[in-house]
Amino acid sequence: MKNQDLVDYLRSCGVCEICQLRYLKARGSEYKDVKETLRKLDVRVNEIVENGEAAISPDDRPAKKARLGVCPTCLGLFSEDFQMELLGGILASDFAKYDCQKIVLAICLPMSLQLKQLAMWFALQRKFGADVDGSNPPDVPIKEAVKLILHPIICEKLGKEYDANGLMINIDLTHKLEDEEVEKLVKLNREAFPAKAAYQKRVEISRGLLEKQYQPSKVKAETFEKYFQIPCSNVEEPVRLTSINLQGPLICVAGRYRKLSRELSHTPWIMNGQRLMEDSIEEIIIRHVGPHFADKLDKITFMSSGREDVDVRCLGKGRPFVLEIPNALNSSLSKEQAYKMEQAVDASGKVSILNLQVVAREDLTQIKTGEEQKRKFYRALCALNEPVSVEVLKKLQIPQSFEIQQKTPIRVLHRRPLHTRPRTIYSVKAKIQRGNSRALVIDIVTQAGTYIKELVHGEFGRTTPSLSSIVGKPIDIQALDVVGIDLEWPPEVDNSLHTEEAHQNKR
Ligand SMILES: [Zn+2]
Repeated sequence: MKNQDLVDYLRSCGVCEICQLRYLKARGSEYKDVKETLRKLDVRVNEIVENGEAAISPDDRPAKKARLGVCPTCLGLFSEDFQMELLGGILASDFAKYDCQKIVLAICLPMSLQLKQLAMWFALQRKFGADVDGSNPPDVPIKEAVKLILHPIICEKLGKEYDANGLMINIDLTHKLEDEEVEKLVKLNREAFPAKAAYQKRVEISRGLLEKQYQPSKVKAETFEKYFQIPCSNVEEPVRLTSINLQGPLICVAGRYRKLSRELSHTPWIMNGQRLMEDSIEEIIIRHVGPHFADKLDKITFMSSGREDVDVRCLGKGRPFVLEIPNALNSSLSKEQAYKMEQAVDASGKVSILNLQVVAREDLTQIKTGEEQKRKFYRALCALNEPVSVEVLKKLQIPQSFEIQQKTPIRVLHRRPLHTRPRTIYSVKAKIQRGNSRALVIDIVTQAGTYIKELVHGEFGRTTPSLSSIVGKPIDIQALDVVGIDLEWPPEVDNSLHTEEAHQNKR
């Protein structure tokens, strides 16, 4: 089968030039200059004729075919008219609201389109016989061609880059004959695959089924022809755009927070429909960071590497956290914007954040895994009923690690199952607080997941040993701070260095 013969036949059916190239199995950039590629493939280019009539030899001319100029294999999908319609549709959508440099098109094609490919496949087999394989499509599939042809054109016209993780433009297409043809297809399916139809009461006709089952090696041309024409019948209507929906990318924003208040919960604290605390770390951070990225703040997820109790502060370098923001309008965050957000959160006086940055989605594993292995650093302010003796102080210098058995504390039993867990305490170091001989400041390094308050007082023997059992005296914990979490993530960035002031100072 010569290229020229193939193209002559396709032209006689009214197939558009892009589709002619598809049947010549053109790849990638070959679609950019259609005429040039045709010449390269030794095909005469007929400049005058747009809809194919001139190249038709009289005996090949199917009656009245191709007059209306809608390509019977792509239904106009690759025509300039459709490109303009698509572009207009995208620009009329919420597209301008999204500040994303990268886009991806997801086009839902009507099944009519697949049927047209099959009809042409049969037609080519009839025309060229064994040159046309019965199980490998003779063309570059429409789906692939959309990527090769429409994607670059639309990206260029919108001034965007293609990226599978970019703003997703969901495009729904339909064709006037879609319903009618799907109905015929159901009947054809029953006839072509009677065995399957017998045990499946309702056969779901899907694009996947069409792709897998419908090829000349599996369906007879005669059966197909009872329902559809070979080659395709005269096509009057092109595909139509029915809807465009935009789905912004999922953006992850990470940072570290310090909790400066002893009256602040981690997430909204609501019991029996009543708020117990006016605010939370989650809400404060989302309130100041979220609006830059999204319209709907309630869709944002807040995660952190562990958490602290309401009355516990978290100091030092702070605790790593990440916000997962779906359908983001914005995918970038300048250091200057990040610094403004950090300052706005700091102004709450309750939480402070730093190292704010956009991170890759894959990095979320950093926060989600290895939680148990991490070390946590605490400082506890404790009190004895009597002045601290040298003996007690000595007992609370424990440089080597030891194991404790910890029953789930009574205070969390309403949300955690009752278990006894072994936990490693890496070190304990105590000193007397200046100005109060009964008060101790104890630095404790533990395995993540250790309940510190119970480690100190023992909770009636539910944690053994405890600092209280080690010294043989009751110890009361009065205040607790987290001073370090050994997770070196996200990377440190000093956003303050990128403000206008900082720039001016450099000059
Ligand atoms: Zn076409």
